[in-house]
Amino acid sequence: MTFVLRGPADLHTHSAVSDGTQSPRELVSAAARAGIATLALTDHDSTAGWEEASSAARETGIALIPGMELSTRHGHRSVHLLAYLVDPDNRALLDETARIRESRLTRAERIVENLSADFLISWDDVRDQAQPGATIGRPHIADALVARGIVTDRSAAFDGILHPSRGYVFPHYAPDPVTAVALVRAAGGVPVLAHPATTGRSGMLSETSIRALVDAGLFGLEIEHRENTPEGKATLRAYARRYGLVSTGSSDYHGAGKPNALAENTTDPEVVAQIVDAATGWSPVRA
Ligand code: AMP
Ligand code: FE
Ligand code: FE
Ligand code: ZN
Repeated sequence: MTFVLRGPADLHTHSAVSDGTQSPRELVSAAARAGIATLALTDHDSTAGWEEASSAARETGIALIPGMELSTRHGHRSVHLLAYLVDPDNRALLDETARIRESRLTRAERIVENLSADFLISWDDVRDQAQPGATIGRPHIADALVARGIVTDRSAAFDGILHPSRGYVFPHYAPDPVTAVALVRAAGGVPVLAHPATTGRSGMLSETSIRALVDAGLFGLEIEHRENTPEGKATLRAYARRYGLVSTGSSDYHGAGKPNALAENTTDPEVVAQIVDAATGWSPVRA
């Protein structure tokens, strides 16, 4: 049965299960207050927030699309893949996300070691910034730098100390995007490439790479995202037409961790229905 709904859909948001600043329940409440009818929870490499967000959605009366933002890497490029309605108990996906989270943790510990040579910061400072079990990332290190008064906010940290050019940070393990798309499909999920044009056409995946993702089962492109450049969006629209991909729009809300506001971009309800219809791993939660 087709998923019929009305109202704004925001298909990319984070809770404190990864690098957002609100609990899944608080996120769902904030979404309801913002007038969102359909919300996707897409924490980095984790489905740990699904249960809490699902009960909150039932109570609040909004629809929830449980999802995840999977970390992948193509060469030197970090590529994020939104994975909607996957089977959260799928063995291969569980193993892969556990491996990524583990690598994120050891990487963060080493980054803090690097930083501690020049700044007064320790692993305890970072642990204080993350809830137990959270998917650790640079944002938690940024928060620790803020708490120590070394930088003013997350953005300042990313533009400065945590920028790769400064030499403290380095990448964590992540699968190839083609492998990740196949993994999401095998888990019954619907893969959509997150913010594919953040650095314009030059930094974007090549058309050949995008076509390889399409062949592996890519379903859509997140075109309306504040970090996609205007030229990049135009190129993505052409790819969407050429390869029959859906186009989504979303906020990539991180609570107080980023300026992105809930529903600042939204996805056409017709596209949401297509995503739901294409999924076999899990079902949306409706009041
Ligand atoms: P990591 O995955 O550990 O490399 O960290 C990347 C994450 O940091 C992304 O998923 C973003 O959510 C977040 N991020 C990137 N740039 C910024 C920024 N300027 N301010 C706040 N968060 C950011
Ligand atoms: Fe993030
Ligand atoms: Fe992302
Ligand atoms: Zn995100």
